[in-house]
Amino acid sequence: MTTSAPRSVATVLDDDPDSRTVAFGSNSVQHGSAVFEGIRCHRTADGSAVFRLDDHLRRLLASARAMGIRHEYDLGRLREVVLRAAESGGLRDAYLRPVLYTPDPRLGVGLTAFRFTLGVEVWPATDVVDPVEPVRLTVSPWHRPGPSVFPVGVKATGLYALSALARTAALANGFDDAVQLDPATGRVAEATIANIFLVRDGVVTTPWRTESLLPGITRDSVLALASRLGYRTVEGPVDRAALQAADEVFLTGTAFGLVPVAAVDDRTFDQHRPIFTALRQSYRDAVSGLSSTPPGWLTPVPQR
Ligand code: PMP
Repeated sequence: MTTSAPRSVATVLDDDPDSRTVAFGSNSVQHGSAVFEGIRCHRTADGSAVFRLDDHLRRLLASARAMGIRHEYDLGRLREVVLRAAESGGLRDAYLRPVLYTPDPRLGVGLTAFRFTLGVEVWPATDVVDPVEPVRLTVSPWHRPGPSVFPVGVKATGLYALSALARTAALANGFDDAVQLDPATGRVAEATIANIFLVRDGVVTTPWRTESLLPGITRDSVLALASRLGYRTVEGPVDRAALQAADEVFLTGTAFGLVPVAAVDDRTFDQHRPIFTALRQSYRDAVSGLSSTPPGWLTPVPQR
């Protein structure tokens, strides 16, 4: 979706001076063992606020735990470093990427011996937020990894080689992104870096968590906002036929929020998307503090 090369505005590495150089031989470079989050802060009437910070950081801790990564961060310390990075970036609208990585140049894939530390990269949101233009998807021959292959819900850098494979093949075939299927059921799981929703007869549906997908924080927010707007929501099985039969289809993810889907392979969708439009507005209001949000959804960035 994003084609220009984004420039980051700040890199905040944690205090340990040994972490300042990542060895090329580091396991995180060589074998993709780092775990990470993608987080947004948005302009609000009172400065900038990070959206669902603690939920992202809890997912980062869960990713590290699942991988057996040893580190010295608890929720409070992660929060402090990420907010410091947001502040030092000096941007109201930014994309923040905290990464737990190992700088050690030791070979080997067993992670228990490695020291993991935190770095946060900050990009202007405009550089990573994809245009709101509708995207065209193709169903990928590359399925998501099943739960016996990799723990779903873990954001490890190496896992994104699988997304790169599916996305690159889709791009080569003239599409913007790929729909990936669950390997066991053959049903719809998600897109390469986003969750997928469909609307049919006014009901808002997304594949349930038992399919191989990352249960996104935007997905969770959209389900909550849709209920609040009075739509019926369903987390359930979504087969390819259901996708073809949908009235509206859209993707969700932290970087871009909600983006409409124009087509899945040869099925094109109506450009009139009333429910998508209402949900996107509701999401934009929530992230920028224009509507009341559940407690904990917005964390103010300290002002410089
Ligand atoms: N699925 C995958 C594979 C992703 O990488 C992402 C982006 N984090 C998502 C879904 C959407 O998750 P979130 O809404 O938490 O950004």
